[in-house]
Amino acid sequence: MTERVFNFNPGPATLPLEVLEQAQRELLSYQNTGMSILEMSHRSKPYEAIHQEAEASLKEMLGVGENYRVLFLQGGASSQFSMIPMNFLTVGRTADYIVTGVFAEKAWQEAKLIGNTHVAASTADVNYRRIPALSEIALSDNPVYVHMTSNNTIYGTQWQAFPDTGDVPLVVDMSSDILSYPVDGNKFALIYAGAQKNLGTAGATIVVIRKDLLETCPKQLPTMLRYDIHAKNDSLYNTPPGFSVYLANLSLQWLKRQGGPAGIERHNQAKAALVYDAIDNSGGFYRGHAEKDSRSLMNITFRLPSEDLEATFAKEAGAVGLVGLKGHRLVGGMRASIYNAMSKAGCQALAEFMAEFQRKNG
Ligand SMILES: *Cc1c(COP(=O)(O)O)cnc(C)c1O
Repeated sequence: MTERVFNFNPGPATLPLEVLEQAQRELLSYQNTGMSILEMSHRSKPYEAIHQEAEASLKEMLGVGENYRVLFLQGGASSQFSMIPMNFLTVGRTADYIVTGVFAEKAWQEAKLIGNTHVAASTADVNYRRIPALSEIALSDNPVYVHMTSNNTIYGTQWQAFPDTGDVPLVVDMSSDILSYPVDGNKFALIYAGAQKNLGTAGATIVVIRKDLLETCPKQLPTMLRYDIHAKNDSLYNTPPGFSVYLANLSLQWLKRQGGPAGIERHNQAKAALVYDAIDNSGGFYRGHAEKDSRSLMNITFRLPSEDLEATFAKEAGAVGLVGLKGHRLVGGMRASIYNAMSKAGCQALAEFMAEFQRKNG
């Protein structure tokens, strides 16, 4: 086997080695069926069991009960940007958006194509280096829902507490931090996430939706865009992304073995502290993009004194097996994505590399 690197890519992202090894063992013949999951009918018993286990595990770890449905859809989180307003933003109503980064902006732009929107808060003026204070959020009169992004993958910021929107449905894009800490899913009417960051591979998009929302989906919408149709058919209206659901399920079972969201949160805090300490103890050589009280445990963004040094950093880090550290062009500098599956050893190696790089170039 060739050596595995520490993969800091933002998504698709590193997976637990145990998950990959299990997928490898089961690839050619899944549980003595003589065929791969890749070749298996989505209406077969073995696939059904995977689908149900993934759904039950998501509900359990998000702390939601019988009044929620879990859907496995396709089209990525980006398709949810439009599906949400298409299903809920009716004529004469307004949807509120809290704009904290590029994906939040995209979600808002899609909603604008469908109906009336209101920006309840935005931190665009400071290049999204912080999460707005709860007191800055100004909702419109009686919004049909409020949309937010729990972790801003590109900027490296994360909500530390969620707004209370009362009876107004709160919709959250959790693509880059789902199940990385304990959350009371009942706070949200709809949670969605692409699987490729914290839950497996691209292909499956997870939607956790409160049942009452399914009652108002407009009947004139194209069938594949209706949440109620997918719910009624247990996400088997058409062929689901079966292998991606399978990998998500392996990741969910792995997560349970790590102590679930509470266990992984402690691990994630310890990992992030290693890298943030390397930034904070550098005397200004490394400069974090996010304000301290908005820092993400999932994506750590930082700059170096010059773009030349940033390029050298990425190159030399790659040469020692620390890959995927180049930041997004909108922020510049570096970004270390350290989702659930990134090991503490990976963060330790990065922190040591940062100290060493500073010694040579500071
Ligand atoms: C990656 C990401 C998206 C886009 O996901 P796709 O599955 O590529 O459509 C949306 N929102 C957030 C917060 C993300 O990190």
